[in-house]
Amino acid sequence: EAARKKKKRPDSFETADGVSLKITANIEFEAELPKIKEHGAQGIGLLRTESLLFGHRLRKSMEEQRAFYSAVLEGSTGSVTIRLFDIGGDKTSSRTVKEANPFLGWRGIRLLLDEKELLHNQLNAIVRTAADYPGRIRILVPMVSVIDEVAEIKDELESVITELKTEGVELGESIPLGLMVEVPSVALSAYHFAKEVDFLSMGTNDLTQYTMAVDRGNERICNLFQHYHPSVLHLISNTVKGAEKAGIDVSVCGELAGDEIGAACLIGMGIQELSMVPESIPEISELLHSKTKAEFEQFAKSALTLASSEELENLFEDWKN
Ligand code: PEP
Ligand code: MG
Repeated sequence: EAARKKKKRPDSFETADGVSLKITANIEFEAELPKIKEHGAQGIGLLRTESLLFGHRLRKSMEEQRAFYSAVLEGSTGSVTIRLFDIGGDKTSSRTVKEANPFLGWRGIRLLLDEKELLHNQLNAIVRTAADYPGRIRILVPMVSVIDEVAEIKDELESVITELKTEGVELGESIPLGLMVEVPSVALSAYHFAKEVDFLSMGTNDLTQYTMAVDRGNERICNLFQHYHPSVLHLISNTVKGAEKAGIDVSVCGELAGDEIGAACLIGMGIQELSMVPESIPEISELLHSKTKAEFEQFAKSALTLASSEELENLFEDWKN
């Protein structure tokens, strides 16, 4: 019986010298909620919502969407970052179309801004849920590539809020709005994007794909999908600098955050929150606790001088032991 007793989970995640870092979870389904508790995640850094659009129905009604968001809020603690529908690319649905280059095509925010009803319904469901759970919801916009998209999504959110207020719905404090940084154009001009919003979240899966020019799902060339290639790290570093200048936080929700080598770089570069599949939390928490903040910073600084992923792997082995 004693052996079955769970190990005490940490209340906070800290480096060896006590610098804390937020560790949150990526989830898509309600069924994943128990895993979040089990691993002690401090919230949900990425709630993927595409599952609402798949299956037998064209789209879930606003009420059904609200029920899903509420269930996630009920079943978790801390902040929940809800990402707007990221369909298109490899995530096909009845809304998407056949394209020659789907990953360079009509996906994420590009599709949402053309499909206003879909966008409007989702924002409406999220804002109503946020009124029930004040201070806990953040909205995340996928696949942004130009600044105009940011202005447009802000207008859409504003109009939903106005509409709900007119209906007499009591809305609490404003809902933080953030952008996924997954296209190099955003990472390279990060400051200009950062000053328009409340937070940035790096989608390193797509950022790697667009930096390395490698389809993330193509097995033939998967050896070239190198998510800790120094070029990807330079884009992350530039994003952190832009966000710092604008005074907002950056999190990472791509798989890099749950990877030891990647996480070491990200912690050292000054990322404030790592969001990962819940199963990765123990390993990353242990890594975090094994070194001081200064040691992580030194590692990230060296990583940025390298030429290849292989060099980074070697550097990590030397540094870790
Ligand atoms: C990413 O691109 O890193 C990301 C988290 O989004 P997704 O994997 O859902 O495209
Ligand atoms: Mg992505």
